[in-house]
Amino acid sequence: MKSYSYGKQNIDKKDIKAVIDVLKSDWLTQGPKVKEFEKALCDKFGSKYASAVCNGTAALHLAGLALGWKQGDIVITSPITFLASANCILYSGATPDFVDIDSISYNIDVNKLEEKIKCYTQNGKNVKAVIGVDYAGHPCDWENLKSLSKKYKFQLVNDNCHALGATYKNNEKYAVKYADAVCQSFHPVKNFTTGEGGAVLTNNKEIDKRIKILRTHGVVKNNSEFRIQNSELKKIPWYYEMQFLGFNYRITDFQCALGISQIKKLDRFVKRRKEIAEYYNKAFDNNENFILPTVNKNSGHAYHLYPLQIKFENLKFGKKELFEKLSSSGIKCQVHYIPVHLQPYYKNNFGFKPGDFPISEKFYERQISIPMYPSLDETDLNYISSKIIDTLK
Ligand SMILES: *Cc1c(COP(=O)(O)O)cnc(C)c1O
Repeated sequence: MKSYSYGKQNIDKKDIKAVIDVLKSDWLTQGPKVKEFEKALCDKFGSKYASAVCNGTAALHLAGLALGWKQGDIVITSPITFLASANCILYSGATPDFVDIDSISYNIDVNKLEEKIKCYTQNGKNVKAVIGVDYAGHPCDWENLKSLSKKYKFQLVNDNCHALGATYKNNEKYAVKYADAVCQSFHPVKNFTTGEGGAVLTNNKEIDKRIKILRTHGVVKNNSEFRIQNSELKKIPWYYEMQFLGFNYRITDFQCALGISQIKKLDRFVKRRKEIAEYYNKAFDNNENFILPTVNKNSGHAYHLYPLQIKFENLKFGKKELFEKLSSSGIKCQVHYIPVHLQPYYKNNFGFKPGDFPISEKFYERQISIPMYPSLDETDLNYISSKIIDTLK
């Protein structure tokens, strides 16, 4: 029996050759492929600067540090996201808060965000930053997020990990136009892969500079940036300076070679993901047990996920039984996500509780992610969709 997971990489001979070529070269890490991959990211996503790092979580961590988040700062994100979107707030010592999702877009509700910011303002507090997550590959309402960010003077981060290849206002290069920093992940389930990997894209030179220093131990090697006054010491060929507490968040050259090869195929991958979504939309249409994902006007969904909502409240069946039955038919679904505020760590340390974000919690009860990756063919899709429909009968 064939087995289907919710997501999977797509690797071809060219990808394999690209990696092998680097393995035979002089540089396995900190070589030319890193810069070349960063250039490819800039070209594809329209940013002035890009820093490739070891994963998407590191990208979020460094973005927060480079934006100067610190203890006492309030940073807001959506509860329906991967843990890393909220954990990165904690890494910098800032305080996390959430705003519920919108029930149609599944992204942060911009009206509720403004209400929350007004509350903070009335209590004499400012919101430092908002992390918008383009959930499942569907862009947030970036235009209104941007105008709020100007009105209330907060920073904007795009957790863009799901949305590689999405468009907003018919533009694939939308993310850096709105956000101060855009964080991406190239994990194998994402829309293209480097194995593990991530990047921070920005149009801001200072932010980029700080990220590049922080990803390699906070060390500066460039003569013109040394802080030391002693001009003799500056001339010593091996001299280097640690100016910040940084990390080793570097990515390797062979991973970047894979990224360079993969990013060329992103358009094709996303096109196929859209076809698969169309197939599912048709298969599940006119069935009152389902709520299908919709796409905002002027947006192009990148379908990292196909989030299907099932009205279990109308069925004799729970999500657990559905998972078990589908799994025994080789269909391994997932749930994206358990709302972050309901994790014990967030409940215990910040006092969040069930009922705080009801739309997110309802979404979580109903949501499943069904298989979505480019190599699924019509036979696979027919099998998967009919199994889901039959199982619910
Ligand atoms: C995958 C993902 C991340 C983290 O990326 P890693 O590369 O796995 O560290 C962060 N945010 C979201 C929304 C993601 O889907």
